[in-house]
Amino acid sequence: MADDDGTIVIVGAGLAGAKAAETLRGEGFRGRVVLIGDEDERPYERPPLSKEYLQGRAERASTFVHPGEWYAEHDVELRLGVPVAALDRDAREVVLTDGGRVGYRTLLLTTGSSPRRLGVPGADLDGVHHLRTLGDSDRIAAALRSSSRTVVVGGGWIGLEVAAAARIADVPVTVLESAPLPLLRVLGPEMAQVFADLHREHDVDLRCEVDLAEIRGRGGRVEGVRLGDGTEIDADTVVVGIGITPNTALAEAAGLEVDDGVVVDEVLRTSDPHIRAAGDVARAWHPVLGRRLRVEHWANALNGGPAAARALLGTGAADDRLPYFFTDQYDLGMEYTGFAAPGEYDEVLVRGDLPDREFVAFWLADGRVRAGMNVNVWDVTGPIGDLVRSGAPVDRARLADPTVPLADLAAAAAR
Ligand code: NAP
Repeated sequence: MADDDGTIVIVGAGLAGAKAAETLRGEGFRGRVVLIGDEDERPYERPPLSKEYLQGRAERASTFVHPGEWYAEHDVELRLGVPVAALDRDAREVVLTDGGRVGYRTLLLTTGSSPRRLGVPGADLDGVHHLRTLGDSDRIAAALRSSSRTVVVGGGWIGLEVAAAARIADVPVTVLESAPLPLLRVLGPEMAQVFADLHREHDVDLRCEVDLAEIRGRGGRVEGVRLGDGTEIDADTVVVGIGITPNTALAEAAGLEVDDGVVVDEVLRTSDPHIRAAGDVARAWHPVLGRRLRVEHWANALNGGPAAARALLGTGAADDRLPYFFTDQYDLGMEYTGFAAPGEYDEVLVRGDLPDREFVAFWLADGRVRAGMNVNVWDVTGPIGDLVRSGAPVDRARLADPTVPLADLAAAAAR
């Protein structure tokens, strides 16, 4: 039953928060909805910021979750540029940095995450960028337009997507990764190698197992980097993408349970029954995977916000969607469904053409599919998800055979 009174406050005006507000209204909630964000921009989507928007192929307007007028039209009070200072759980009020207070009946935390910062000398020089906000993407795009060499620190998703944007703009680029391969922690060595090869083929100077000692500068501006072994690389632009930390400070200060994210159950309830959390900041119990996960990808914000809203209203069951993410780099487009951290699988089985990068990779453990990644192969995330969800052993030979429809395998696994 939808409540028709009371105030729902959403702290964090990103994708998860905006989608939660949309769902509250869509489900018929007639009470007050207040969406509070610390940035001055209305909620926007982040995937384009390191892809088509960064490359100048998408309009700024296309990144916003809703048109500007949507909020007033749906009676959602959007308060931008007002960071929240504290949560007063006893009074059930949100305390704003401008001294204001907003009372709530229920509260949703969608505070997201912040880029990790380098701890080396020179990390604050002009010309050193992180990529999280629309403004960051604008600044990096402007820097790439006149860069004679860009150094990217971190070979994760941000690092590789920025490296691709730089190469597409014909900017020489060096990627510095501390691990033996980029994306190693997410994909494991077999598929991480695919991305290493892809970038080297596009003349990215990819250096792994390196240790950044210093960002060198002159007159307050970056002019290069120095590695632990003394190697120096000149650069006028440095982009740092070394991961994120969830924005848990408010939750922690308010005494909520926090453990690398705000700990929530399968209906996104925190240790306070009046407070839910969704998106990057939430470490949620996953009913299919049977573990707590903090998923930092777009789809988790897109679906997690609405799931939290439905849970607040009591109109929806737990969201049991599998983790999903995608990337586009040069002419490689991929989608990943499921979860298989290195060390948690026995084998990566490839179906299709690996050298030409048109394939599906499956991560198997005990003969069961834990995750699948389709590379330049489309419309298969449904059956991949069904295979993961079934938890049933698969026929390896048929799985590797591109002539056997994945839907048939998924149907067989479900029986
Ligand atoms: P990330 O994907 O966690 O990758 C960070 C990378 O930097 C890791 O490979 C990490 O290695 C490496 N690293 C850490 N410290 C380093 C150092 N001092 N020097 C060199 N390398 C270092 O994080 P991200 O790329 O910054 O992305 C931020 C968030 O946005 C992530 O949650 C990501 O999933 C999300 N995002 C997703 C997409 C997508 O889904 N397509 C696109 C953009 C961003 P270790 O793993 O060994 O620490």
